[in-house]
Amino acid sequence: MTGFQNEPLADFSDASQRTRFAGALEQVRRELGWKAPCVIGGQLVVTGRWLPSVNPAHPSLVVGQAALARPEEVDRAVACALRAQARWAGMPVEARAALLQSAASRLRQQRAWFAALAVFEVGKPWREADAEVAEAIDFLDYYCAGAVELAQGKAVNQQPGESNRYHYVPRGVCAVIAPWNFPIGILAGMASAALAAGNVVIVKPAEQSPIIASHFVRLLHEAGVPEDVIQYLPGLGEEAGRALVEDPRVALVMFTGSKAVGLSILRTVGHPAPTQRFLKHAVVEMGGKNAIVVDEDADLDEVIHGVLASAFGYQGQKCSAASRLIVHAALYDRLVERLIPAVSGLRVCDPVEPRCDLGPLIDPEALTRVTTAVTEAAVSSTCLYRAPADRLPAEGYFAGPALFAEVDPRSPVAQEELFGPVVCLFRVRSFSEGLALANDTAYGLTGGVYSRSPSNLQEAIDAFQVGNLYLNRPITGSIVGRQPFGGYKLSGLGTKAGGPDYLLQLVVPKTICENTARHGIPLE
Ligand code: NAD
Repeated sequence: MTGFQNEPLADFSDASQRTRFAGALEQVRRELGWKAPCVIGGQLVVTGRWLPSVNPAHPSLVVGQAALARPEEVDRAVACALRAQARWAGMPVEARAALLQSAASRLRQQRAWFAALAVFEVGKPWREADAEVAEAIDFLDYYCAGAVELAQGKAVNQQPGESNRYHYVPRGVCAVIAPWNFPIGILAGMASAALAAGNVVIVKPAEQSPIIASHFVRLLHEAGVPEDVIQYLPGLGEEAGRALVEDPRVALVMFTGSKAVGLSILRTVGHPAPTQRFLKHAVVEMGGKNAIVVDEDADLDEVIHGVLASAFGYQGQKCSAASRLIVHAALYDRLVERLIPAVSGLRVCDPVEPRCDLGPLIDPEALTRVTTAVTEAAVSSTCLYRAPADRLPAEGYFAGPALFAEVDPRSPVAQEELFGPVVCLFRVRSFSEGLALANDTAYGLTGGVYSRSPSNLQEAIDAFQVGNLYLNRPITGSIVGRQPFGGYKLSGLGTKAGGPDYLLQLVVPKTICENTARHGIPLE
């Protein structure tokens, strides 16, 4: 992408950056307790019902409260968006891009503050929180540049006597329905892409992370994006989210979240309401059950580092996280011997502490889901490691890492997305058997291979059914413009966030053919 550069990550080995981040954490701690009403056409709307957003490391600490939008707020927001659509779409793309670039600059200035807020609201360790805000800045810049390029249209064939043009028009009102695990990165990515392409946006953040989303929408308004062009509608997925998806005036749904909800959205958009005058389009990015395949000649130092980062970064609560480790029998015992102490050395604590390796899970439901699965897996397979209860903080939704071996590949823990720090190990007799096992899942998001064999790496390139394949490196942490991100199979439709084709989902192409040899042109 011409002129686009990634935002560099913070370097916390630099004492001044550590001090700055600690200061941002203190500032956010002092400010906690926000109220986030709906923002409809710039008006703050309270609905009589509030949803508390709590710190998962200290659930008694309320980060803020968000209004719960009802169907009437959805109706008002969509009507308001519809009125703004033609004005926003008719604005020169450079003017739209300038507003979003101004938002990127503001976010750059407030980067530590937003990252600190993510530490409190979703329990993200420092580095992960910082990288997420950097990604949000990248998305703003990247999609601006992409929209300016896209506005030039594409060349089509010409004939004497006719002029042919091919360009793109926005789809209309877009509902951005976001997950909590990248509460600013993914939300900013979806919203900025839709806005840059000329759509008007209604943001529906996840129930667990409405406060950081409200500040991001405020930042866009402060940067000059009109108040009716981006609106904020916190609420329950089953209520506000569903109403947005079903509204016959919403043309585009951009969703990132679980497979169950993503599939239900696809079903809804496939059945137009009687009053609907267009087909809705949905971009759905869903979960994963990602595997790393370790070949017999792999570099164990690299493998251990890669598995720790891929499986336990942000407590395994990334769609790209590794939850299956498939190891060649020749290396298996040595790998296990090194992996157990490495995992047991991970520090589980409040992520405000810079030493934190694993923070809390997001909420009590996640903790129950993970502990139930771990308890069941301990019965049906061999538990290699499980964080002892006395090494977990007494308060908060902490699970700690777990490793299992001799797992039935068809069992739920091996097939279903758990979204926690749990890894199943499998022993295979050949690299090909490992790849076949890796592919034996409904998902196709990320995958990794550690091998020194060029032919085996090529076999993985040819046969590993994932949207993002990583060779001899961790499988998380994709970077905008460098590793466009997204899966296929039941992980998604193959769209790639942060990639050159993403904006095409958010527009429709239009062909204009003009007869330039026509008669009867009035003379001046
Ligand atoms: P979720 O599906 O529970 O919720 C996502 C969003 O959908 C939330 O805003 C929620 O309120 C809303 N929602 C829920 N029910 C709805 C309905 N019936 N209609 C409309 N909206 C509804 O997911 P989550 O727990 O927030 O996020 C975790 C999931 O997201 C995991 O499965 C993870 O793998 C996935 N994820 C995927 C990617 C990717 O790029 N593929 C990235 C991040 C997260």
